[in-house]
Amino acid sequence: MSEPLDRYDAVVVGGALAGASAALLLARKRPDARILVVEPQQAFPRKVGEATVETSAYFLESVLCLQEHLEAEQLPKHGLRYWFADGQPRRFAEMSEVAPRALADVPTFQLDRSRLDEAVLAAAAEAGCEVARGAKVTGWEEGWPESRVTIAQGNGDGEDGCERTVTTRWLVDGSGRHAFVARRKRLLKRTEEHPVAAMWGRWNGAADLDDADFVAATGLPPIGDGVRRRLATNHFCGYGWWAWVIPLSDGATSVGLVHHRDLYTPPGDGTPEERFRAFVAAQPGLSEILDGAELADFNAYRHLPYVAGRYAGRGWALTGDAASFLDPYYSPGLDHLAMSVFASVELIGEDLAAAADGGGDEARLDERLETHNDHFLRSYPRWLSGLYLGKYELMGDAELTACSYAIDTALYYFGIVTSVYRYPESLANPTFGLSNPQSEWAWRTMRFFNRRLNRIARFRRATGSYGRKNLGWRRFGPAPGLGMKSLPMLVSGIALWLRLEAGVLVRRLRHGRPDLSQPVAATTG
Ligand SMILES: Cc1cc2nc3c(=O)[nH]c(=O)nc-3n(C[C@H](O)[C@H](O)[C@H](O)COP(=O)(O)OP(=O)(O)OC[C@H]3O[C@@H](n4cnc5c(N)ncnc54)[C@H](O)[C@@H]3O)c2cc1C
Repeated sequence: MSEPLDRYDAVVVGGALAGASAALLLARKRPDARILVVEPQQAFPRKVGEATVETSAYFLESVLCLQEHLEAEQLPKHGLRYWFADGQPRRFAEMSEVAPRALADVPTFQLDRSRLDEAVLAAAAEAGCEVARGAKVTGWEEGWPESRVTIAQGNGDGEDGCERTVTTRWLVDGSGRHAFVARRKRLLKRTEEHPVAAMWGRWNGAADLDDADFVAATGLPPIGDGVRRRLATNHFCGYGWWAWVIPLSDGATSVGLVHHRDLYTPPGDGTPEERFRAFVAAQPGLSEILDGAELADFNAYRHLPYVAGRYAGRGWALTGDAASFLDPYYSPGLDHLAMSVFASVELIGEDLAAAADGGGDEARLDERLETHNDHFLRSYPRWLSGLYLGKYELMGDAELTACSYAIDTALYYFGIVTSVYRYPESLANPTFGLSNPQSEWAWRTMRFFNRRLNRIARFRRATGSYGRKNLGWRRFGPAPGLGMKSLPMLVSGIALWLRLEAGVLVRRLRHGRPDLSQPVAATTG
């Protein structure tokens, strides 16, 4: 007679941030639940997802309760900072610079993800979850209220170890872009209307932007008290692309290029790494920061965005990148991770409680699943069109980017950050995802504004005024804050928008109405 299979309440695929935080929160909610986390990697490598914004920072600090880890092992983040030039070789000090003049009133962090992911997985183990490291989920026979999960021990392909099969009520997918469940269920769809690609790596020996010698050598002017350029996510921007510079607590610097494939092609014709090196060497400012630094690792993805056609069903739920990915600009990845983990744990926790009370309430579960899918599947296309479609056409123009940064950030604070701080349970609501008039109105407003700036960008390119303030313009505007504290930032963004609109009106008298139906063709270098 065969042995009875090990039985769990939840098996989690992947022990990195999404999987480990789902396991940790579920264990806290249901201390009696049996939870197994399966993770192939014995130690987490460096990875992207290094800059938090306010919602994900709140999730890490106040929901996962990682204050000590964040203070001791990670760096604080000093907002977003943007740099622009005119495509010619320039000195750093000649570039235009856009940033808030002070720090926001809520914290954000620059993360060494290998350290963070280890800390969250250790916290899940401490909370009572079983962790199988060096093991991989290789099979899943979907069923309800019990499905069968096959786990390969050893190197993950079953060759140097053995396989075991367990049963579980819930399979929580935190497998990142591997998207174990969504691929198996053929739910995954590439977001073709937003063809963005990325290449990135960590550099050792990059310059410190606040170092007195570097400041003296480059001639960069001083900035506000308490704000450090190095601790910001520094963005270097051009038409169709942006590059991030993020400091890490181990002393390395993460640098990445994200580009819209229809608008920009990185220079050269070599491998992606050679193109990345050529790109960095050609960029004013960036090349000065990385002068003499060594590239320690390199990675690239040709197409970033995708989404699963459902986020959860009876017995399974998708979290983090296992469900979808948008675009790294404004770091929505960890915000989405926080929201999908939080909402999934609410749903599963409630079902486990009902099951423990003598049988699940399936009608109630189906209703909850409908709402969960409805919210997340409404959120993704709205988030995409409200913020990202057409955005890469603005990025080579300092004024347009400054305007969109100020308005997008202030509205993010009004619409999301403030409510998460006031009502933590609103973390379960994905951005623009609720089916109520407020959510629809917020999305339509953002989409209108985003589209309008896109038209102004096309108009400026067609009339030769694109990037006219890309040299020597320093705009240090108001910082965002909770509640009405973001109003000055919003007002400054709207004032800039009105100036941009006035510029369009004036130039229209001279140039008439150019055809704005298409973006300008791809450029190289
Ligand atoms: C270029 C780029 C830049 C980005 N920058 C930012 C940023 O600055 N800020 C931000 O918020 N977000 C950013 N993101 C997004 C962010 O990186 C992701 O949202 C986040 O890392 C997703 O975490 P995760 O835990 O879902 O997946 P991952 O971190 O990918 O973890 C998945 C885990 O699952 C494991 N796994 C895979 N298959 C199996 C299996 N079959 N069985 C068991 N385990 C398995 C893997 O080993 C891995 O440990 C960026 C993304 C990209 C592409």
